[in-house]
Order: sequence, then C-alpha cells, then structure tokens
Amino acid sequence: MSVRTMVSRRQAKLLYLLIFTSVSTFSFLILFRDSHKLLPHNIQLISDDAASWMRPAEHISHKRGFLLDTPHCKIPDLDPLDISVMQKIKRRGELLCFQKISITYTEGSVLKLNRTKIEQKLGGDFKYCQYQPIRRGPKNSDFVFVYGGVSNAFDHDILVPPENEFLRVHCYSHSDGKIATNFHAVVTPKEDVEHRSDYLFKQHLKKVAPKETYNVHMIGVDSVSRLHFIRQMQQTRQFLHEELQAFEMSGYNKVADNTFVNIVPMMVGKFVHEMGWNETMSDRPFDEYPFLWKNFSKAGYRTLYAEDAPKMAIFVYAKEGFHTPPADYYNRPLALAMETQRDIWSRDHHCVADRLETTMLLDYVTDFSRVFKKKPHFGFTFITRLTHDSQELAGSADYAYLKFLKRFKDEGHFNNTVLILYSDHGYRFGTMRSSYMGKVEERLPFLYLIFPPSFRNKYPQLVKNLRINSRRLTTPFDIHETLKDILYFDGAARKADISSRGISLFREIPAERTCDHAQILPHWCLCLEQKRLNANSRLAKLIGNAVVDHINAQLMPVSHLCAGLRLHNVSEVVQMESNEKVLRFSDTFHDVINRTVVYGAKTEAPVVYQVTLSTVPGHAMFEATMTYDPSVDTYKLGGDISRINAYSDQSLCVNNSLLKKFCFCLDTGHSPEQTEH
Ligand SMILES: [Zn+2]
Repeated sequence: MSVRTMVSRRQAKLLYLLIFTSVSTFSFLILFRDSHKLLPHNIQLISDDAASWMRPAEHISHKRGFLLDTPHCKIPDLDPLDISVMQKIKRRGELLCFQKISITYTEGSVLKLNRTKIEQKLGGDFKYCQYQPIRRGPKNSDFVFVYGGVSNAFDHDILVPPENEFLRVHCYSHSDGKIATNFHAVVTPKEDVEHRSDYLFKQHLKKVAPKETYNVHMIGVDSVSRLHFIRQMQQTRQFLHEELQAFEMSGYNKVADNTFVNIVPMMVGKFVHEMGWNETMSDRPFDEYPFLWKNFSKAGYRTLYAEDAPKMAIFVYAKEGFHTPPADYYNRPLALAMETQRDIWSRDHHCVADRLETTMLLDYVTDFSRVFKKKPHFGFTFITRLTHDSQELAGSADYAYLKFLKRFKDEGHFNNTVLILYSDHGYRFGTMRSSYMGKVEERLPFLYLIFPPSFRNKYPQLVKNLRINSRRLTTPFDIHETLKDILYFDGAARKADISSRGISLFREIPAERTCDHAQILPHWCLCLEQKRLNANSRLAKLIGNAVVDHINAQLMPVSHLCAGLRLHNVSEVVQMESNEKVLRFSDTFHDVINRTVVYGAKTEAPVVYQVTLSTVPGHAMFEATMTYDPSVDTYKLGGDISRINAYSDQSLCVNNSLLKKFCFCLDTGHSPEQTEH
C-alpha cells in the first residue's frame, strides 16, 4: 500500500468520523422525532428547521487532497459541507404522509383492512371497500390506462386474483359515503412469464453455465451528486458503508447532460445518437432497442421496470415510450392512474394517501424480490420526483432509502442480489450549476454497488478490483459492462483494455485512463489539466514558501527541539486547472439533432499546484499540494505534506510520527549553518 493510499484512507476515515459527528449533532432531534414513531405514522409533521444539519467546527480545519489521483486524472476532493453550499442548501426532515386517510394495505397478494385505523380514525364507522383493477390501455400506449370493472364489496381481507396487478380502492362509511381512496401494486407470479422464464433459465444454464446467478436491482435516484448524497443522505450512506460494505464509485462521471442520455449508455452501451434514435423519432416507441433488461429476460430472469412521476419518465418525456411493456412487471398504468387522481396526493405531491410515492416504488421492488426470492429476477427502477426539483428533499429521501435497505437486508435479499444504487447526474438547475462546486457536482453523480456477502468471500480479486475502481474514473458505460459480467458471471478477473470505452468494474480500470479513453467529452470532464511551471519562477517560490510556512506552523510546539525550516529549492511545480470548457459551460440543448453546448463567462475555480521542494537545514524533500482559491486570493494546503527522502536520524529528538517527517533536530551535532549551502 502506497503512502498516498494510506493517507487518503486516513482522510476518508476522518471525513467519515466528522460526518458521523455531524449526524450525531442533530441526532437528538431525530431521536425526539423518532420517539413519535411509536404513534401511528399519520399524525405529525417535522419542522424542517429541526432537521437542518450543523456544521461541526472540526470540519473547518479538515484538509483534503484529490478524490481521484491517477497520473492523468486528478479531481479535487471538495468538502461536501463547503460554506458556499451550506448557505444555499437546507436539509429537510422526514416527510410523513398524514394528510389523507387510508385503511387498506397489501401483504403479498392479500388486500388487507387496517382495523386499528378504522377504530382510531373513524371510530369504527366503516361499511365496505371496492377495488378496480388498472390496466394498460387497449392501444398498448404508454399514455393510456383503463379501469376494469368494480369488484364486489368487501369488509374483510381478500385475496387479489393474479390478473389484477394494480388496484384503486375506494372505501365507504355508514354515515357519509366515501372515506378513503388508495392505490396498490400486487406482485403475483404470472403463468406465461413463469413458464417462459423457467424454460429460458434452463437454456441459459446450459449455454452459459454461469458460475453464479445473482438477481440484480438497479435503483436510480434522479439528480443527486456524490457530494449531495454525502450531505443529505447521511444515514443511508452510513448503512451502505457499515452494514452492506458497499463500493462507492467516487469517480463516477456522467457522459451526457440529462437522465435519458445517461441512462441509454448504461442500459444499451451506446450514446443515444449511436443507438439510432433522434428527435424526429419522438413518436416512435423504444421497443426495438437492445436494452440490457432484454438480455436478462432472455436468460430467464423475471423483469421489473418502475418509475414515478409518469410525465417525466425517461422514455416518455417528449418521447413515445414503449408500445410493448419493457418488463414483465411494469408500473406505468398505475403511475398514470395515480397521477390523474388528484385527491389522493398531499399538497406537495409527494404522498399518495398514507405513503410516499418513493416508498411505493421501493415497496414494489421489495415485493418483487419477495415473490421471486428463489427465481432469478432483474429490476430497473428510477425514482425522480422527490429529488429532481428540490435539492433539500434528498434529505427526506434519506429515511425512505434507509428503511428500504434495512428491510431488504433483514429479509435476506442481499444474500443473492446485486444492488446498484445510483444517480444519473447532479443537480442541473439554479445558481449552483454555474459555481465551481455545482459544476463538479453536476458531473459526478453518486454510485454504489452492493454485492452478496458470499461474493465478497468467494471472489477476492474482483473485490480488490472494485475497491481500486472506487478511486478511478468510471462512467455509465462501465456499469453496462459490469451488468453483462454479472449476467454471464464466470468469476474471472480479466485485464482491462484501456481503449475500451466501457470497462467492467470487475476488472481493474487502468490508472492511465483519461476522459478521452472513457469518451467523456471535455465539457463533462473534471480531470484537471496539468502543466509544468518554471520551478525558478516567482510563483514557484511563492508556493514553496507557503508550504514551508505550513511546516513551520506544525513545528511550533517543538521549536525548542527542531530547527525552523527555510525554502532551499523548488524542483518542480505542476499547475492543475479545470479545463476551459468545464469552466465556461453554461447549458446544452437537444439530445441528438442540433446538439448544442452553450458556453458563457468563465467560472472562478481553484487552481491546484503540486510542488516538490527541499528545505534547509537538513535537505528534506517534500511534496505538497497547494490550492489557490481566487475568491479569497490565498494558497491553502490540500491534503498532507509528504516527505519524499529519508529522514534517518535527523529527527531522533521527536517521537510523533507526523513531526518526524518535518523535524530537523537542533542537537544532531550539525549546526544549521554547516549544513546549509
Ligand atoms: Zn436526471
């Protein structure tokens, strides 16, 4: 393990500790709130202010280096709690759905009545319920749904027939008519799907003979950068790291602007224009394109495709959607029906009766995994509404995703499921987008991969590669390749070909990979451009002296033992800056035809200098990273200062390992004057 990886691990731990501290800082508020959870879920509202975060004081002095630190791609490790962001973004508390009453829920294929609620909320004034199935319209369009006939009235739990996947339920009281409406999705095995899948899976086993069959769930959360995930989804992140040993891909870079154009590379392995789609085809369905869920389906996996916010759905927004459902379980008719039923939504349009819309989708995913626990299955779920229009609501989503992951683990689904939790891009609206921090966040969405514990034990080389890749430049094309490796799993750790646009994350992404290799266009590329400066220039001396000042400041407490250091020589300065296209980027228009990138004024951005220097007395050589912040016109130390030559017995007078690399002991027998030249 190199010194640098040790340093960055230590930093990561420190950051984690600090974030944990910040979680604990307001945890009493959460505890206060959680104590209310003993009450039924529908009677309280959290003050948004109460859930706002606090910036821990220690965080201010925390020094950061590079997020990615490979020869051709260095990306600065920005502080997720940077003051410029903290002023703009709040964190919202848990959204609790209490505005509408519901007395029905599902358990497997059983539609149940909540007797406690009937007594508590309605004083027992309940007569009966009836449901109507919701189906795809006769023209098989993604824009049409129909209600089936009304069921018999029931006043007790009932078994829902398998042909009724999606339901609208109305319930009535004795006194004043309709008292509650709700929508439910019921996952039941379908005879034709089972028959087909069983057959195809046998063929797949015969033909491919995969070493493992893992179920796959891809869960996308719209518009959440990695840094925003760290800020807003702290509990989920902690659970991912500590309980699920998730791999966080820190250098996950988007390859295009919005959802659609980043999802296609992930699921088709091609850019949209390469796939053969353009805006003139907006009235043609997406049925024929080679989405990867089809490969899973052909291999005998039951498939699920689910989205919320039906007007904004990936293949529907200004597009035709699908004429043939893309999956065996497709929630589109339900989403359409819910959207048109105005009276079931909370005012903020996030709650459907007594549940978050997000939770409904996550429940659908869980139900799907429950029903097919012993049968191979693949799910593609993309959740937009909560995080797309507001940066603050990712904080509310934290609770929903944490609960989902906890339950998924408790029920044992992770034992044979790979879960890919990701976003498509960072926030793309508002003033944040034009700031440097915003630009970085827009380009680096979060990405986690969670593997079964048995995978982590059986395939140490793949685990090692995933770990290395968590600090390499990665893209949606790599996810595409990884999914293929999961479907045709052979456990082999092959060597990656750097010239491949997409590289499976089971292979080590070469350290030499550039944005060019990965086909990340310059205006999306965050790797800093590197330029060697004249080491004798005034700027080089200025930066060198700033480093020496930092060292001397650390030596202050031991100034009676160690000599004060002076700059002897700067041997190398490499200047690193974001490329001009990133800094001037303002917007893009059109996905394929007349695709235009609009550039504007240059955003002020930090300039990073990697400097190698020597000091006297002692001729110690150091390497350090200094960041010039133009907004305050100062040079700040980024990361640690590394000692790059041996200090042997120069520092015997101190024991502290940090000071040892800096200290030139005053009593070494050499006077500072003698050693200087
Ligand atoms: Zn998006």
